[in-house]
Amino acid sequence: MTAETQSYEFQSDVQQVLRLVVHSLYSNKNIFLRELVSNASDACDKLRFMALNDPTLYGDQPDLRIDMSWDKDARTLTIADTGIGMSRQELVDNLGTIARSGTRQFLDALEEGKKADAQLIGQFGVGFYAAFIVADKVHVSSRRAGSDEAFAWESAGDGRFTLEPSDQVERGTRIVLHLKDGEDEFLDGWTLRSLVRTYSDHIGFPIRMPVEKEGQPTGEWEAVNQAAALWTRPKSELTDEDYQQFYKHVSHDFNDALAWSHNRVEGNQNFTSLLFVPSKAPFDFGMERDTRKGLKLYIKRVFIMDAAEQMLPNYLRFVRGVIDSDDLPLNVSREILQNSRQVEKLKSALTRRVLDLLERIAREEPEKYAGFWHEFGNVLKEGLAEDPSSTARIAKLLRFASTHTGERDALVSLDDYIGRMKPGQETINYLTADGWNAARHSPQLEALKARGVEVMLLHERIDEWMIGYLTEYEGKKLRNIAKGELGSAELGEGANESTTQDETVKAAAGLVEKLKSALGDRVSDVRVSQRLTDSPSCLVLSEYDMALHMQRLLKAAGHDVSAGKPTLEINPAHPLLQRLDGESDANRRDELALLLFEQAQLAEGAQLEDPAAFVRRMNALLLG
Ligand code: ADP
Ligand code: MG
Repeated sequence: MTAETQSYEFQSDVQQVLRLVVHSLYSNKNIFLRELVSNASDACDKLRFMALNDPTLYGDQPDLRIDMSWDKDARTLTIADTGIGMSRQELVDNLGTIARSGTRQFLDALEEGKKADAQLIGQFGVGFYAAFIVADKVHVSSRRAGSDEAFAWESAGDGRFTLEPSDQVERGTRIVLHLKDGEDEFLDGWTLRSLVRTYSDHIGFPIRMPVEKEGQPTGEWEAVNQAAALWTRPKSELTDEDYQQFYKHVSHDFNDALAWSHNRVEGNQNFTSLLFVPSKAPFDFGMERDTRKGLKLYIKRVFIMDAAEQMLPNYLRFVRGVIDSDDLPLNVSREILQNSRQVEKLKSALTRRVLDLLERIAREEPEKYAGFWHEFGNVLKEGLAEDPSSTARIAKLLRFASTHTGERDALVSLDDYIGRMKPGQETINYLTADGWNAARHSPQLEALKARGVEVMLLHERIDEWMIGYLTEYEGKKLRNIAKGELGSAELGEGANESTTQDETVKAAAGLVEKLKSALGDRVSDVRVSQRLTDSPSCLVLSEYDMALHMQRLLKAAGHDVSAGKPTLEINPAHPLLQRLDGESDANRRDELALLLFEQAQLAEGAQLEDPAAFVRRMNALLLG
């Protein structure tokens, strides 16, 4: 400490993250090295990018590299890079606060669940604070490229850090870890080499270590990694482990990737892409800051920017990885990217790659695909609206619950569905509903179930909107079975041949009239149902009306919904309707009719306009 030393307190979130990282990641303690090397590599990337415009930033040191050394007596491990470095203010901001959006919510969630396990904190992307897993004091000295001042940051991870001027570094950042008791394995050249090879071999800058002869340093340095950007290396040289480590570096994800696609394209456009599908959605998926969406744009091996928004459609925003173009100009800006035809072409090439990859997983590893769908299925669905040119391909990737499996998580594809269609059936039938239970118990399904005709059960919020963009698949119409009348197109051969149906309709004519007069303008029509076998009644819309639960959602959100009134369909064979038909007291008959209507509303998930009146009617019926 000198007179110029100043002391600061960590932002409170940092203290909590730090504690969680140290406690819950001890069994994965090696990752601290990956995190520090990853930061050093990012810093070298940044300097190389900035030097495109201002080569003087290199000063008289053009080499970008990461040096790792250790001191057995002092029990320190040092990682020094010649990257961009940090100014005094950057040391305070970057190492004393956490800028990620959603940090607070994430920490609260951890605290609530009291399940601060490695998986969860790992999802957060652990970063610099991982140093405190193995060190009880961390000293960071740094000089921003081109600056004549350097500063040292130091902390024991106890809630405070200090800052003072420093002269220990020419350019970039030098991190000295004072290892905790028992962490001496990180003072061993052999161990460190093997860790670098495991975790950081893919880093595109040389990671150097002192050459030792018979345990003594010779004063020379040698690179211990491949020092070639991973995506530039031939696939045949790369192992799954190499890809996984690289994925963790670009995505800041702690979990393994689910799958990846690595391609070199030559011709009109020349580029390499390496795209990953994560196995888990990050904790802040959907609310990350725009710049951190995880698709990194490189041009001729130089990192340019995070450019997921320009390079991928929004519905593929879960994809992580790298695109390295040989054709774009190095001085490209965000604005240029947004308006470039070349980028449009890259974007559609990348979109195709991702869809290829997903198709391959769906085909070859259905269980893996189910995992993907669980995490990102609802995001992919947005593609039907966003990317009409890929409708058929996206549709092939969709998965839905179905009456065929009857289980919420046993999903089927449209192709599966088509394979099970009944003779004469022309449409792919589905039902949308406000939740799983409303879907699977809907009275609308009864006749279809009785005939063994499968219905897809679309019970997610997004489904009603999404399915509007998918009218056809493989030449078959998609059909909402809660709308209009059902015939042989929906039900298969023989649906309209039954003469009993005509007779039933005739026989029920009087009953239908009684209901119409009782319900008045609450409904647009009353008719004998072909849908029901067990329930007394249900509500049906015209083919062009918006589903009732959607109408409710929109109304609740303050929208004006002018939709047609539903039709009440009845099952004349049901004892309740027979009783209604035989009721001679006109008052009681009207009450029963209303009850029938209200039940149909309830079954479909609606709230009644006058619930108390419903209860009164119900009680009267129970007691009568
Ligand atoms: P992340 O890498 O996810 O941003 P970290 O906790 O690893 O989070 O690092 C926080 C920030 O500190 C980085 O974004 C970077 O700005 C800065 N930083 C860390 N290490 C270095 C370094 N070696 N050189 C320059 N800046 C660094
Ligand atoms: Mg980092």
